Amino acid sequence: MRPVAAAGSRIESLTAEPLDVAMKEPFEIAGGSTTRVRNVLVKVRLRGGAVGYGEGAPLSAFNHDTQAATLAALRRSAAKLVGEDCDRLRPLLARVEELLGPERGAARAALGMALADAWGRRHRLPLRLLFGGAQDQVRSDVTVTIVPARAARAAARRIVALGVDTIKIKIGRDVEEDEARVRAVASARRGLRLLLDANQGYGPRQALQLLRRLRRAGIAPALFEQPAAKDDWRGLSDVHRFGRVPVAADESVANRQDALRMAAKRCAQVVNVKLMKCGLLEAWDIALICRASGLGLMAGGMIETSLAMGCAAHLAAGIGGFDFIDLDTPLWLARDPMTGVRFGAGGCYELRKAKAGIGVRPGAPPRGAVASNDTE
Ligand SMILES: [Mg+2]
Repeated sequence: MRPVAAAGSRIESLTAEPLDVAMKEPFEIAGGSTTRVRNVLVKVRLRGGAVGYGEGAPLSAFNHDTQAATLAALRRSAAKLVGEDCDRLRPLLARVEELLGPERGAARAALGMALADAWGRRHRLPLRLLFGGAQDQVRSDVTVTIVPARAARAAARRIVALGVDTIKIKIGRDVEEDEARVRAVASARRGLRLLLDANQGYGPRQALQLLRRLRRAGIAPALFEQPAAKDDWRGLSDVHRFGRVPVAADESVANRQDALRMAAKRCAQVVNVKLMKCGLLEAWDIALICRASGLGLMAGGMIETSLAMGCAAHLAAGIGGFDFIDLDTPLWLARDPMTGVRFGAGGCYELRKAKAGIGVRPGAPPRGAVASNDTE
């Protein structure tokens, strides 16, 4: 029997608008370059007055998703959700999945996040408690994108100065240049934990070639993410076996079925969980499938503000046991348009500061809107 909803938990309104943010510098990966963030912002208001915010970050260099398609899908679905009960959060997130379909990961993420945030604000509970409350903070790495070695060394020094001890290095275009970039980063400080991410730019042959070169230079990466095309699971397995390095599946694991298959086949040792690949509920389930089957976990994202990154931090902290946290993209923005919990000293997201929901919201009311009186 469905529980009778208190009127205050019903969805009163749901809006989606562009969230365009200028970047400090381009974000260059094997699949292409991003020079401007074209995300979306969803706002959900419940009848009892609680307001929740969600962010969608379509990234065409990753999976060809776009802002226009995300906004159109959200606007089509919004009317169908008005009147639904936000206290039935899991079934409501399942309905969001069904309405938006598997192609609209960023739209699913934005809407699911806004509903979870509204739920948390209504009950005055931070989201990390919804996900299990395992930890109250996570520490992120910082990424060095595909830039020349000299710029990579300078970037690594800036990262070390932030107190961050894990650096993720984007590679996947040219083995020689990639080797030079990794060596330059490694030279910034002894003992740095280095993660490589080829974003499918390599096949296993080039990945193993790079690992051999790095080994000769005395460099052993702690993780090699997506060293082969997303469907080349044999390639992932070969890089682990012959390269003697833990491999992370990012593009290769985009839904529950992929996670279940990876749990059975063990071609990678770690899965990168991203809200934008599939939405909040499916990312949550993927993380639990991985935990239950002994696969390692990474929390990642596309190019997101503190809102979506904060939500991912709650998910990772709540479930606990994520060995890799990659939630640094607010650093790429000319100005983060959000206030609240953020990437802080040492790459730390202090989630104790979030009193309800994600604990992050837009810094200024959306254009033309009346200032809201919702609580953090
Ligand atoms: Mg990746």
